[in-house]
Amino acid sequence: MRVLPAMRLKGLKKTYPGNKTPAVDDLSLDVYDGEIVTLLGPSGCGKSTILRLIAGLEPQHPATAGEVLVLGKPIFGPGADRGMVFQDYTSFDHRTVLDNVTFGLECQGVSRTQRHELGREWIQRVGLNVTTDQHKYPHELSGGMRQRVAIARTLILQPRIILMDEPFGALDPQTRMNMQDLTLALWRDVHATVFFITHSIEEAVFLGDRVYMMSNSPGTMLEELTLQMSDRPSKEMQRDLSFQETVYHLRDLISRLEESRRAGT
Ligand code: ADP
Repeated sequence: MRVLPAMRLKGLKKTYPGNKTPAVDDLSLDVYDGEIVTLLGPSGCGKSTILRLIAGLEPQHPATAGEVLVLGKPIFGPGADRGMVFQDYTSFDHRTVLDNVTFGLECQGVSRTQRHELGREWIQRVGLNVTTDQHKYPHELSGGMRQRVAIARTLILQPRIILMDEPFGALDPQTRMNMQDLTLALWRDVHATVFFITHSIEEAVFLGDRVYMMSNSPGTMLEELTLQMSDRPSKEMQRDLSFQETVYHLRDLISRLEESRRAGT
């Protein structure tokens, strides 16, 4: 018997007020503890809507029908059990790296000494330099460094589920691959359950234990693939033949989707 899923989407449907067609329709899937599930699909197919429904954020939450269960319990809004990392750099401009990373702990009333100690540990764990970076402000950091801060700020709170919405979409290819390597290493370390939206097929295949491919007709799942575990850095995995075959398979699927959309079928 399989254990209780960390997260279960059950017949999830969302129709935005004033819209005729739902953005997400009758979506059901389970994500198990410690799994990384990636979600691919064309723009506008409902990926962010799903992620924000799981996060419990308005106006996506509440769903029109169906429900989101976290460890078997329905969600009623945002919660400490779910952390988010977005594409837009979400650090506070007037706070240093250390104060950004420890923001959530401050809100929880953790003492300054304790949160600074933990903050420095996390600054190091995401690959930043404690000595040179902790007192910097966001405008002094590169895009990759700012996303490291965002990841540290989320992980320091030890959420069971981490929701990532195209977090590396604005980064250059080399930085992006470095961030993918960091992501995999950290997730294995903290044993988090991750739900990750991306436009990049390579990223979805590299990071995912499973990948879901969405169609935009509207907001439904087209295919689910179980993936081989990535055991080498992103740059090396991308040269692997079976990795490339999976990428081509998904690319063909997307091309067929786009052709059928153009043909109006
Ligand atoms: P994706 O993340 O795959 O690009 P979204 O979930 O952002 O897709 O959007 C899915 C559909 O829902 C789109 O047609 C979009 O225009 C619509 N939509 C998204 N957010 C809102 C909103 N707040 N109000 C009305 N329609 C929305």
